[in-house]
Amino acid sequence: MIQAKQYINQPFQRVNRKQPCPVCGKTDWCSFNDRIAICMRVESDHLVPGKMGGWLHKLVESPTYYRSDEIAATAATKASLEVCDRVYRAFLNLLSLAPYHIKELTEHRGLTVKEIREIGFKSLIEVKPWQLCKRLINMGFSLEGVPGFYLAPNKKGDGYYWCFNYSPGIVFPLLDIQGKIQALQIRLDKPIGDKKYRLFSSGNQHTGASCGVPIHVAQPEVIKDNRIWVTEGALKATILSQRIGAVVLGTVSSNTWAPALELLEKSFPESDIVEAYDLDKYTNHHVKTACKGFREAIAMTSRQVSEAMWDRHFKGADDAAIAGYKFNFRKIN
Ligand SMILES: [Zn+2]
Repeated sequence: MIQAKQYINQPFQRVNRKQPCPVCGKTDWCSFNDRIAICMRVESDHLVPGKMGGWLHKLVESPTYYRSDEIAATAATKASLEVCDRVYRAFLNLLSLAPYHIKELTEHRGLTVKEIREIGFKSLIEVKPWQLCKRLINMGFSLEGVPGFYLAPNKKGDGYYWCFNYSPGIVFPLLDIQGKIQALQIRLDKPIGDKKYRLFSSGNQHTGASCGVPIHVAQPEVIKDNRIWVTEGALKATILSQRIGAVVLGTVSSNTWAPALELLEKSFPESDIVEAYDLDKYTNHHVKTACKGFREAIAMTSRQVSEAMWDRHFKGADDAAIAGYKFNFRKIN
């Protein structure tokens, strides 16, 4: 049971255009602080007591979605998708891929070297952020409003310089439906707490911008399955898509499926859906609730929805696909 009180140590703020709801992605009605969101649209097991209504959601990527009022006043407006795409492409070009990361992606994730290159995996290790920012600026890019980057005060206290924060790991692009890079995510070399992934975002910094909760659209080289698969996690979606030959949507976390639903309605209104959440949906209460919410919402759109079933030795559909296991499907509606 989430104890509401322990989370209310930071003031809640209403969502707005710069800071969408971390759960449903909408820009009105909901509110959040650094640890929790009160979403008015997506249900959880924790109904907010009293007249206010809404449901409590524990946040996965808390700090990036929260800005104190003081920081919100100076925050940058998020740059356009085109600008983010260009900056992120140039940024990834300046990075290389360390041998131990190549090994991780080929041996443990089942990707080929060609796929690794095409998808654009890079290592974010041992870099000097201010130097990389300087190179990007010298190449003619503006970093203003591009999530991840922000202005930091210099040591003398008489000016600012562009930089970014990072924890070492593999960085990879989160693509939109047109293949544009809408955000970057990092698979951390050393998990921080129970977090293995982190979005490249600077929403918690003065002059920074939040990347929100983007849905990664993984598209295979050849489509063999016309259904749209939905899973939790962008890297998982990418690997799964390559192996099964279907478009796979990857959510940032189990409870941020609402933007996926929106994308499905807009871009794939006729498609049948395959739900492929991790198997902890049967054991982890939090994931179970999120998955149930997604299924119920998608079932209401009068499409056919199936659950992907696989060998229970594998937690994720990607692991099963890498190991060459066949999927079975169970109709949900
Ligand atoms: Zn919401």
